[in-house]
Amino acid sequence: MPATMRALRKTQPAKGLAIASVGVPAIGPTDVLVRVRAASICGTDLHIYGWDRWSQGRIKPPVTLGHEFCGTVERTGEEVTAVKAGDFVSAEMHVNCGHCHQCRLGEAHICQNVRIIGIDQDGAFAEFVKIPASNIIKLDPSIPERYGAILDPLGNAVHTVLAGPIAGQTVLVTGCGPIGLMSIVVAKACGSSTVFATETSEQRRAMAKKMGADAVLNPASEDAVRKILVETGGTGVDVLLEMSGNPTAIQQGFKALRAGGRASLLGIPTENVPLDLVNDVIFKGATVQGIYGRRMYETWVKMLALLKAGRLNLEPLFGEREPLEKFEDAFAKLQGGLPGKILLYPDGISG
Ligand code: ZN
Repeated sequence: MPATMRALRKTQPAKGLAIASVGVPAIGPTDVLVRVRAASICGTDLHIYGWDRWSQGRIKPPVTLGHEFCGTVERTGEEVTAVKAGDFVSAEMHVNCGHCHQCRLGEAHICQNVRIIGIDQDGAFAEFVKIPASNIIKLDPSIPERYGAILDPLGNAVHTVLAGPIAGQTVLVTGCGPIGLMSIVVAKACGSSTVFATETSEQRRAMAKKMGADAVLNPASEDAVRKILVETGGTGVDVLLEMSGNPTAIQQGFKALRAGGRASLLGIPTENVPLDLVNDVIFKGATVQGIYGRRMYETWVKMLALLKAGRLNLEPLFGEREPLEKFEDAFAKLQGGLPGKILLYPDGISG
């Protein structure tokens, strides 16, 4: 067991990241030390790399990034019984307090005192990461490593899609970043009928088709709302899955929602978004939900069952792999609009 390891860290309050040598985390009696096999870069990591206003208010350098990963249990604290050395695992990286009002109500995913591993404390862009046993997720060995590395965003997609009825429903996904793309696959796997997707990036529209969307529209060059209304016999879609955070997309999504429909909003706008509440929510009798994180642990149970059953084909998202040291390449590709996920390998590319 080495004393030090390589980690990709925010070392200073400024743009950029750096590889640093740091101590392997010491674990307490209820912790698990995981040897990271593969990690994946999230949009949040891009924000932290760029040191935007949100990052400046939230991130306290130095901190190791990385909250999408899978790995092998290296060591466990003496009180840990859920996993043992050698187990294939991932983790829920939102660590809830267990005692706030929402935690007591069984709503740990919206805990008032949540701490996120890889944002508020050292994460998985490293050879090893320390995880509380309460948050460790044992994975079936049949789940491929590349899927194990993206369970955090896939869980966002599963939580959003399954936040209301989906079987037999028409669906609109607004915004085809990774979570939007995953939502298309999850919605189809769970029995939705027609899935529409809107996206302004040509690369992402092509990816949405590969992921199984029935109709992919470019709202920058066509009247997407009118087309969706025509295709749904004038009623609009049953379910809106808002994945963009873009004000225009949100407004168009509500216009395309049928009366009595469900709007589940996951995309995070950077400004206040004006909505026609009277016509698009109240008179429509719409159900509007904010979606944050993953339900602990209902979302994980359902997601892993869908994966084990082979129902989620996410292959188009994969392909780009880099050793941890080549992080600059990986971040540049994502900033340039690469439509899939990039996996980082702290211990060399394997599998
Ligand atoms: Zn709490």
